[in-house]
Amino acid sequence: MDLPLLSSILLFISTAQAFQYSELAQYIDSHQEEYVETLRDWVAIESDSSNVLKRPDLHRMMDMTADKLRTMGGNVELVDIGEQELPDGQMLALPKVVTARFGNDANKHTVCVYGHVDVQPAKLEDGWKTDPYNLTDINGNLYGRGASDNKAPVLAWIHAVEAYQALNMELPVNVKFVIEGMEETGSNGLDAMILAQRDTFFSDVDYIIISDCGWLSRRPALTYGTRGNCYFFAEVEGPKQDLHSGVYGGTVIEPMTDLIGILDMLISSNGKILIPGIREAVAPLSDEEWRMYQDIEFDLENYKNKIGVNQLMYSNKVDLLAHMWRYPTVSIHGIEGAFSDPGTKTVIPAKVIAKFSIRQVPNMDPAMVKKQVTDYLHSVFAKRKSPNKLKVTMVIGAKPWLADTQHPLYEAGKAAVKRVFDMDPDLIREGGTIPIARTFQDVTGKSIIMMPIGGFDDGLHSQNEKMSRYNYIEGTKLFIAYLNEVAQINKTSI
Ligand SMILES: [Zn+2]
Repeated sequence: MDLPLLSSILLFISTAQAFQYSELAQYIDSHQEEYVETLRDWVAIESDSSNVLKRPDLHRMMDMTADKLRTMGGNVELVDIGEQELPDGQMLALPKVVTARFGNDANKHTVCVYGHVDVQPAKLEDGWKTDPYNLTDINGNLYGRGASDNKAPVLAWIHAVEAYQALNMELPVNVKFVIEGMEETGSNGLDAMILAQRDTFFSDVDYIIISDCGWLSRRPALTYGTRGNCYFFAEVEGPKQDLHSGVYGGTVIEPMTDLIGILDMLISSNGKILIPGIREAVAPLSDEEWRMYQDIEFDLENYKNKIGVNQLMYSNKVDLLAHMWRYPTVSIHGIEGAFSDPGTKTVIPAKVIAKFSIRQVPNMDPAMVKKQVTDYLHSVFAKRKSPNKLKVTMVIGAKPWLADTQHPLYEAGKAAVKRVFDMDPDLIREGGTIPIARTFQDVTGKSIIMMPIGGFDDGLHSQNEKMSRYNYIEGTKLFIAYLNEVAQINKTSI
C-alpha cells in the first residue's frame, strides 16, 4: 500500500471517530427556533402538580413527553406509580413516570438523566408581566412557568440526543431518561418506583445526571451538594376554646406566649443555632473548601440588591456562601391558629402550631436532629412551668447530599464546560433540598452529578420565571459535549 493512501485511510478513521463538536453545535444553533417552539408547546400545558383540578393537564404533559421520546426511537415506558390520597379521602391517580432508553451497547457507559415536567402554580394576577403559560420572548429571555424549572433543561437533554441522531452520529454513551410529574409536591411515588426498578431499569446505569437547579452567576456551574431539611411542627394547646382577651386576658397562661417564648430559643439574633448538639455535628470547613469558596464568582452587593436588604448575616463572601450551603440554619415559617387577617381581633388562640425547619448538612442525622429538637424544646418549655401542653413532631426529614468534586464525573463536567464556554465552572452547592439526589444515591448506589443550565436570576417558583435563550441553547451544547466526555471516563475508574 502506498503511503499517501495509508495516511488518507488513517485520516478517515481518525476523523470518523473524533468528536465532531462543531457540527453538533452548528446543528443546535440552526435549530434554535424549533427548540423554542417546542418549549412553547410544553410551557402551554399547565402541568401544576399541586392543583388536583389540573391533573388531566399533568397526565397530558407526561404523554407528550413520552411521545416526544418515542418519536425519536427511544424505548419508552409510562410507569404507573399508583394513586395519592387527598385530604378528603378521595384517591387520585398520580402522573405516570416516563422512562426511556437510547442505545443498549454493553461496551458503553450508560447515563440516566433525571428531570421533571410538572410546575409550581402561576397566575397572571400574581404579578406576572406576561401570561405564564404563553412562552414570551423579551430581549432573549423566554418567560413562562416551568421554563427554567425544569422544562427547558429536560428538552435540552432531549435535543442533545436528537442532534446526534440527526447527524447520524453514534451516541457516545447509552442514554436513559427518568422524567416525573410530581417533583414540585415532593416526588410522590417516585422513591418506590426507583426502589422497584433498582435491579431492572437502573441495573446497567453507571451515572445519574440531574439538571434541576441553576448557576450562581453568569459563570456556568457544577453543583456538588444540597442541604437537607428537617421540618417541625410545635403545637401548644391551652384552654378548650379561643378566649376574649378583654374578658380572660391576665387570668390564663396563653399558648401563643409560650410558643413564641420557645421559638425564640431556637436561634440567636446573630444566626447561632441554640439547640445543643446541632452545631457540633457539622463537618468542619476545610482549608480546601475555604479556597474553593474564595474563587467563586459572587457579588455580595448584587445579592443584597436582588433580595432587597441592606445588611446580610455575614459581610464576607466565604462566610456567606458557607452559611448558604454548608452550615445548618433555622427558619420559622408560620404559626397555624394565629390571628393573621387584616384588622384587629382581640382573641387569645386556644391552640397554636408553629412551623419551622432546619436546613440540614453533613454530618447531621435527621433522626438525631428530631431527638435534639424535641428534647430541647421540651426542656425549654418545662422551665416556663406552663400548664399548657406542648407537642413536637418532625414531618419531613430529608437528608443532604454531597458529591466528590474530584470524581471523574465532575472532571468530565469541567471539561465539557471548558469546551462550550471556554472557562472553568464554579463548583457550587445548593442551599435548598433536592431529595431525589439522595434517594438515587442511597437506592441505586450510583454516582450523581448535578449539571445546571438555568440562570442565577431565573425566578424559579416565583413570578416572571424565565430561561434565557443563551442558557437554553448553550446548555444543549453543554449536554452534547458532556455525553462525549463521560464516554472518555475510564471504565476502571468508576
Ligand atoms: Zn425543579
